[in-house]
Amino acid sequence: RAEEANSKPSADNLRSPICCIMGHVDTGKTKLLDCIRRTNVQEGEAGGITQQIGATYFPAENIRERTKELKEDATLRVPGLLVIDTPGHESFANLRSRGSGLCDIAILVVDIMHGLEPQTIESLNLLKMRNTNFIIALNKVDRLYGWKTCPDGPIVKTMKQQSNDVQNEFKMRVKDIINQFQMEGLNTELYYKNKKMGETLSIVPTSAISGEGVPDLLLLLVLWTQQKTMVERFMFSNRVQCTVLEIKVIEGLGTTIDVVLVNGVLHEKDQIVVCGMQGPIVTTIRALLTPHPMKELRIKGSYVHHKEIKAAQGIKITGQGLEHAIPGTALYVVGPDGDLDDAKEAAMEDMNSVMSRIDKSGEGVCVQ
Ligand code: GDP
Repeated sequence: RAEEANSKPSADNLRSPICCIMGHVDTGKTKLLDCIRRTNVQEGEAGGITQQIGATYFPAENIRERTKELKEDATLRVPGLLVIDTPGHESFANLRSRGSGLCDIAILVVDIMHGLEPQTIESLNLLKMRNTNFIIALNKVDRLYGWKTCPDGPIVKTMKQQSNDVQNEFKMRVKDIINQFQMEGLNTELYYKNKKMGETLSIVPTSAISGEGVPDLLLLLVLWTQQKTMVERFMFSNRVQCTVLEIKVIEGLGTTIDVVLVNGVLHEKDQIVVCGMQGPIVTTIRALLTPHPMKELRIKGSYVHHKEIKAAQGIKITGQGLEHAIPGTALYVVGPDGDLDDAKEAAMEDMNSVMSRIDKSGEGVCVQ
């Protein structure tokens, strides 16, 4: 596998970027995720979209299909995109990996009728703190008075079909919101007018109800991953990078941990170390589980067992002694030549940052 990581970048040796959805309550984060997921649901397998533990996987093929109306080249070099299922602050705050943000990119959802709201600012602060790139989805455009619906339409084409009144209201609201971002020290611009991507943040107008602008949003995510500087970030590596999201007791399985494997490979029977309330937890992976791909057939508590799983993926792990694992901390694998004490020490380093986060949230950070 080491040679693999050194060869030319391709979908085989790149991992999927991880995307998180942030924003104020009721701006449409959940709805937007549903809308992105919705494609071809009628066709059963939703165009290869698969439900993982805590995340949804969108294969490159599916994204290419949905962005084909847009002229840009939406060829994804990475195998797909992994979108975290629980939008909001808490999961983002927990989604850390070795001290930095686990999300490669975020979508910050802003309601076009409300502009920047308190939790928008909190999200902005978290994103700045973690140095996470983001795209702004200016959602609920369909609420502009007199909006003509154009289901799943690209935004420029949809805009052309709107009356002058709608276009004027849109321009006025966008201008106002750009000003609000300016007050937060951020340059923003509608993505199709943005000549300085990178310096200036892109705004994509969307409707999570009728899907306008959603192809544009997907396209921007793709364009972002295609930047040359990103290749290295998404190179598949053998070094396991994995974060614990949740601890859950599941009937028949006992205590399980839900994790996001950001990079590397996990195997059944791997010796792992996670940060625990009473010190490092050293255990062995008993089972690596993912949900059954066919939703209809999914019986409660029924999972697919894997001998090994390659990043990036959302996974459920069973093993002894995981009851006291702490969400938001890293999972370490002790390799055949690895040093257990080093792994234990590394695992407990996260304890400090988790504790300081809890202190900080006690000071009034609104966790959603
Ligand atoms: P969240 O709290 O940010 O996850 O927001 P939700 O996804 O739960 O949406 C909040 C409310 O706004 C729900 O009633 C949605 O139906 C509605 N909503 C979300 N997106 C849109 C949109 O694009 N247009 C309209 N008209 N309503 C929306």
